[in-house]
This record gives sequence, C-alpha cells and structure tokens, in this order.
Amino acid sequence: MSASIDKGINALKRQVDATVAAFFSSCVHCGLCAEACLFYTETGDPKRTPINKTEPLRRIWKNEYTLMGRLGKVLGLAKKVDEQLLQEWQELVYDSCTLCGRCSMVCPVGNDIALMIRKTREGMAAAGQAPAGLIGAVTRAVTIGSPMGVKWPALKAQIKHVEEDTGLKVPVDVPDVDYMLLLSSMEIMNFPEFIDAVARLFDKTGVSWTISSEAFEATNSGIQIGVSDIAAELVQRIVDAAEKLRVKTVISPECGHAYTAIRWDGPNLLGKAFSFKVRHILEVLDELRQAGRLKITGKESRKLTYHDPCQIARRGGVINEPRNLIRMFSDNFVEMPDTGKMNWCCGAGGGVSANERADEIRLKVFARKKAQLDAIKPDAIVSACSNCRIHLEDGLEEYNMDIPLLSLTESLAEHLADRDCAGAGRNE
Ligand code: SF4
Ligand code: SF4
Repeated sequence: MSASIDKGINALKRQVDATVAAFFSSCVHCGLCAEACLFYTETGDPKRTPINKTEPLRRIWKNEYTLMGRLGKVLGLAKKVDEQLLQEWQELVYDSCTLCGRCSMVCPVGNDIALMIRKTREGMAAAGQAPAGLIGAVTRAVTIGSPMGVKWPALKAQIKHVEEDTGLKVPVDVPDVDYMLLLSSMEIMNFPEFIDAVARLFDKTGVSWTISSEAFEATNSGIQIGVSDIAAELVQRIVDAAEKLRVKTVISPECGHAYTAIRWDGPNLLGKAFSFKVRHILEVLDELRQAGRLKITGKESRKLTYHDPCQIARRGGVINEPRNLIRMFSDNFVEMPDTGKMNWCCGAGGGVSANERADEIRLKVFARKKAQLDAIKPDAIVSACSNCRIHLEDGLEEYNMDIPLLSLTESLAEHLADRDCAGAGRNE
C-alpha cells in the first residue's frame, strides 16, 4: 500500500464518529436525496447521487466498525478502499458536489449528507486525491494568504482607487471599531465596486469599521478541499487580527462558503468561542435598516429576483434579510420557484469553480437554474456571493440568456439617499 493511500485511509478512519455511524446505519436507501441534487437531476447519472458520493467513507465505517464488515474482511469478501476507488471517486466528491446541503434538507432520517461528503474529502485530500486547481488554491492561501494569490499591495491599490472615486477614507488597521470587514479575493480583483459600496453605505450610516492589512481574506480553501488543519490555520489568522484590533464584529462579505467557514465552522475548528461576533454583510445592512439608519431612495423598475447562495441561505439562515433589503428599492420583486432554503445551487460552490476539470459539468447542471429563471423571466438577478455571480454570468452566457447580475450590497449603495450623516471614515 502506498504511503498516500495509507494516509487517506487513516484520515477517513479519523472521520468516523458517532454522527457518521448513525448516518450510515440509519440510511434507508430511499433515494430522496438523489432528487434534491442537481448533479443527479441534470445528468441522470446514478453515480452522482449524494449517498453514492460518500462510498469511500461508508466502506471504512463498514469494514472497520461493524461486525458484518469485519467478518467480510476476514473472509476476504469486503469491498476495499484502495487507490483505484479514491481515484474513481475524486471526480464525484469534488467535481460533482458543491456542498450545497440541499440533499441534507430532504433526508427523512435527518442525515447531513453534505457533511458526510465533506468528511469524505478529508480522506481524499490526505491521499493526494484532490483536484489540481484546489490544491493550488490551498497552497496559495497558506503561503500568500489568498487562494488567488492576492497580496496586501494589490488590495491597497484597490483601496486607493475607491478613495479617489468616493472621496472617502477607507479605514485600515484602525483599532476599537465596531466592524472589521473581510473580503474575498474575487471581490478584490473582479468586483472592487463592493468595497466602494461598503465605504459609501458605512459612511452614510455612521458605522465605525476597518479592514485589517494582516487578515483581509475571507475565503477558506481548507474547508473546500477538506483539510481541517489548514481550515483552522486560516480561521486563526482572522481571529488574531480581530483580537489585535479589538473589534466587536467581523463581517463576512458577499461570499458563500466564507460565511460558513468563519461563522459556523470557525469556533469548532479552533475549539473555542470567539471574543467577537460574526455577521454576514447582509445581516449588518438589515440591522441598519431596522434601526432606521439605512435610507434608500428611488425604485428599480426592472423585475428583480434573488438567487440565494447556498451557504448564506440554506446553511446560514440568512433568508429574510436580503428580501427586506431588496424591497427597499424594488416593488417588482419576484421569487423563483424553489427559493430560500430550498433554492437550487448555482453549480459552482464548494471548490467546484476552482477546479477547471469541472467546467463542463458545472455548466451542464446550470440547466436547473435556467429552468428556475425561465419560470419567472426576471429583468435582473440580485445575489450576494461573488462566486455565484461569476458562475451565474458564465451559465447565462452558455445558455444565451441576457439577464444582468447585480450585487445586493452594490445595489443598495446605488440607491442611497444623499443625506449628510455621521461621516465615519470620511476624508477630512
Ligand atoms: S451537497 Fe448539494 S451538490 Fe452535494 S450531493 Fe448534496 S445536493 Fe448534491
Ligand atoms: S435521503 Fe437519507 S435515507 Fe434516503 S438514501 Fe439519502 S441518505 Fe439515505
């Protein structure tokens, strides 16, 4: 047995706990999870059912921790976990799953199948069976601090542009403020308008905030590839910066998995509660709306709909906030079928977008999003995840659909009432 497969098997064994045992022993093989997964519904391929993606982990559980499995091993009848199995499953576990969690919502015995697939990834990654694109992203995140290789000077340059455009000072490394804003590399490089929008919104609402030059990256490639040690290291960098600046709340930006990583997985990965709160940018903006501090003017005449990013809505519970905010500037908001916590994934989360090998399948499964959009024919789509936004744009182009994509934070900034406010962060 090669050293890497040995490592992979040991990593899979370490994943088997009471939750995993309960999952496999309670699965009634009803097949309901299959119909909830766009990688199955859009391909019809039985290999791509959610439950089948957990097969390497299931075999380890059965062979090592059940009487029948152990007997099978002694008699030479057990189905083994070997290099060939992991190689074969790599495409299923990484290319055909966005960790969207839709399958977990429908399981009649309450199995969190997405979590099981994540645990399966831990073994695959340890065995070296992960896509090259994700390995590259993780390496850059650890060595450079960002999966896209974005360093502080690049963000500093974008901040300078924002300051020139807005006439506002973007606060950097300011201690004792209420909020520390994280950003995804994709926002920094592809959508710097997001920083511009936050600067304008926080100026008008009188929010005290900062960006840390030591920990600005929100994304966590360790979660996506399935290496908890790396995921914990990336979370720790944010915790160190937030504690150093003594901020009250860390803001996760318009990125789906970053929110899961820092808000829900973060304290578990580090084994302790944070000394600060974590909120998604939409939660912060909705709190400002409720407090009467967010003043919006003018209405969009276009018919708008909202794409719920899986990690923000289904896994994170941020469902009402975006709708409250959109209704501030739209009387023509229409829900897609299967929306909110049962929304269909765009097809590119969970590391799929960082994996070039998955380009073909992610565009194929976009047919599900196309069907949702065809049912309501919106004039524009609003969302709150830059990864969804890039993939939605790709998918719309692939299917010859001409529908603009809007960031919710940026849309709000465009509709800000022009009123003088506290001016926190304003250039004097
Ligand atoms: S988490 Fe989403 S993409 Fe993955 S198997 Fe479940 S439904 Fe399919
Ligand atoms: S829905 Fe639950 S019980 Fe049914 S096959 Fe999937 S994991 Fe098993």
